[in-house]
Parts: sequence; structure tokens; C-alpha cells
Amino acid sequence: METTLAIIKPDAVAAGDAGNILAHLEREGFEILAITKLRLGETQARAFYEVHRERPFYDSLVEFMTSGAVMPVALERDNAVKRLREVMGATNPQEAAVGTIRSLYATSIEKNAIHGSDSPENAAIELGFFFSRAELLAAGR
Ligand code: ATP
Ligand code: MG
Repeated sequence: METTLAIIKPDAVAAGDAGNILAHLEREGFEILAITKLRLGETQARAFYEVHRERPFYDSLVEFMTSGAVMPVALERDNAVKRLREVMGATNPQEAAVGTIRSLYATSIEKNAIHGSDSPENAAIELGFFFSRAELLAAGR
């Protein structure tokens, strides 16, 4: 079993799509280990997306990610990192395969409904950003 981090982004939370996205993930075999809802501050959003600080879309991304509540979710299944990326679909919803979360709920390349860790190493770092080791261990069966 592997764990990864998803974040239901402010566009999807505001649109009332969080429940549908969580149901989609459960249907795809992910177990929800932990979930929370919070509004990121600017410092937190900048830190979370630090790897993108040199990209032209960084400031806009930070503004978007702090524009409303998000829902970080710790997910478990076999091959969780890779499978989540597949279930999410491409960054740009116009390029996302039919039936993927982004094809269903994203409205632009920025407002694309969901984040997913892109490697097991980053999943460990990103899970630690939102959830303690104790709460993730307590959630296991
Ligand atoms: P995420 O990291 O959120 O799972 P991703 O890995 O598919 O998404 P990244 O390249 O890591 O895509 O970009 C991080 C986020 O930055 C994207 O999900 C999107 O919200 C935003 N973004 C990426 N590219 C652009 C762009 N060209 N214009 C505007 N926003 C963008
Ligand atoms: Mg990414």
C-alpha cells in the first residue's frame, strides 16, 4: 500500500464538488485516511508550491490557492501516487481524458479542481505539510 496527498482546490470546494470528487476517489479504490478543510494563508501557499516559484504563473497560483477553503486529503491504495495522477487527468482540463476528475470539474489550467503529489518522495513531504505522522498511523486499519 502507498499513500499520497490530494487537495481539493478552492474552485471545486466553492462549487460544491468536494463530495463528488471524494466519491470518485473512493470508487477508484482510494481509502480516505484523513481529511481536513482550511483556508491557506499566503505564506503557506507560497511554501507549498515553492518548486514553482520561478514560473510565470506562481503569483496567480498562490492567489487562487488562498482565495477560499481547500480540503487536503490523505489517500491510500496500491500505486497511489501514479493512480491518483491518472484519475486526476492532465493539468489542462482541455487535455484531460474523458471521465477524469479534471475533465469533469476543472474550468481552466489554473482552476483545475484537484492537486495530487507527483512522486512518492513529494507525497511524503506534502502529507507532512497537512497531517501528523500520528494521525496518519492512527487512521490505518
Ligand atoms: P498539481 O501540482 O496542482 O497537482 P500539476 O502537477 O498537474 O498540478 P503543475 O505543473 O505542478 O501541475 O502546476 C501546479 C498548478 O499550477 C496547476 O495544477 C495549476 O493550478 C497551476 N498551473 C500550472 N500551469 C499553469 C499555467 N500555464 N497557467 C496557470 N496556472 C498553471
Ligand atoms: Mg504538480
